[in-house]
Amino acid sequence: MNATEKFLKYVTIDTRSEEGQEPVPSTNVQFDLANLLVEEMKAMGISDARVDGHCYVYGTIPATTDKAVPTLGFVAHMDTAPVVSGKGVNPRIVSCYDGGDILLNEAAGVVMSPVEFPRLKNYLGEDLIVTDGTTLLGADDKAGIAEIMAMAEHLLTHPEIPHGTIRLGFTPDEEVGRGTDFFDVAGFGADVAYTVDGGALGELEYENFNAASAKVYVKGSSIHPGSAKGKLKNAILLAYEFHSMLPPAERPEYTEGYEGFYHLNHMSGEVEDAFLDYLVRDHDREKFEEKKAYLTRVADYLNAKYGAGTVRLELTDRYYNMKEKILPHMYLVDLAKEAMEELSITPQVIPIRGGTDGCHLSYMGLPCPNLCTGGENSHGKYEFISVRSLEQTANLLVRIVEKFAAMGE
Ligand SMILES: [Zn+2]
Repeated sequence: MNATEKFLKYVTIDTRSEEGQEPVPSTNVQFDLANLLVEEMKAMGISDARVDGHCYVYGTIPATTDKAVPTLGFVAHMDTAPVVSGKGVNPRIVSCYDGGDILLNEAAGVVMSPVEFPRLKNYLGEDLIVTDGTTLLGADDKAGIAEIMAMAEHLLTHPEIPHGTIRLGFTPDEEVGRGTDFFDVAGFGADVAYTVDGGALGELEYENFNAASAKVYVKGSSIHPGSAKGKLKNAILLAYEFHSMLPPAERPEYTEGYEGFYHLNHMSGEVEDAFLDYLVRDHDREKFEEKKAYLTRVADYLNAKYGAGTVRLELTDRYYNMKEKILPHMYLVDLAKEAMEELSITPQVIPIRGGTDGCHLSYMGLPCPNLCTGGENSHGKYEFISVRSLEQTANLLVRIVEKFAAMGE
């Protein structure tokens, strides 16, 4: 089976994860795909294929060379985003896309138009796998799984290709931020790895945000407004004052590329108590630390002005830019770029404005940049992927494996 056939099979299996669940996996349906993958891996000859109690799937393709080659891992996630239904995914192939509107669902009047999605124009003449307009497609990240599985099958049916030990890892619950909570890095036993969880063909990512949350608790002092002069402290207005001191241009809606931000994610309040919840993000570690220091200064300023204990700031680091963990292994990025160029794929190195499983893995001791899957418009009914992108990404993985082997002594 090629990557496309595998992909079309995997997307019909519902693996939607769910927010706010204590156990991992957050939904039991994820085991359906996990069990199928173990079965398929065993049928290919991956004898140690297994799924553990937290729904992590692992397996090994043994080395075919005696050369000293780093053990290379490939990781993708099985779950799909909780926001849109992933049940009853009914994919359709639009042959030889002509550049016009694509009618996804006649009854519901769902149309995907290049006016709204100009990137469609990059796929003229290609076969596109689309949804029926009622669910997501699940290319995020079943495309990654299909491509890794196609690579595995290719290597196992072509033992004449020299390569080192390859480890495969499929994770649950990435979309609810828990994809690496129970990842057994030591057991996985790879020296380095790639997540295959990116976007359009050619995307290659090794930088993501440094991320913190800032919770601001404001204490007011309520008193009858009729006799409030000189006494009332209105927590809502103090919270408002706090917010007004943050730079307005450093909000998500005014930033892009490497520009960081303060994002007011939630606020609530009464006269006695108010609460602000911010996401703080910056690729640059120094600027990230400055942003947190500035929040501290604003809190200190308001405490000096209105009395100690008026504002309590709680800063919690969430994750860091994987760049500092990848830089000592930059060959991972360079080698992936070269592999792309050899396949006439134009590499596009872009900073992720978020985090990935790979950034967590990188800090857990497994340097792990992110490769493209070829998918577009993830997390919604307009998600699509071209057959060419699927197959080219699978070829890319094989090429990366070959180039790794060529590095060996
Ligand atoms: Zn993903």
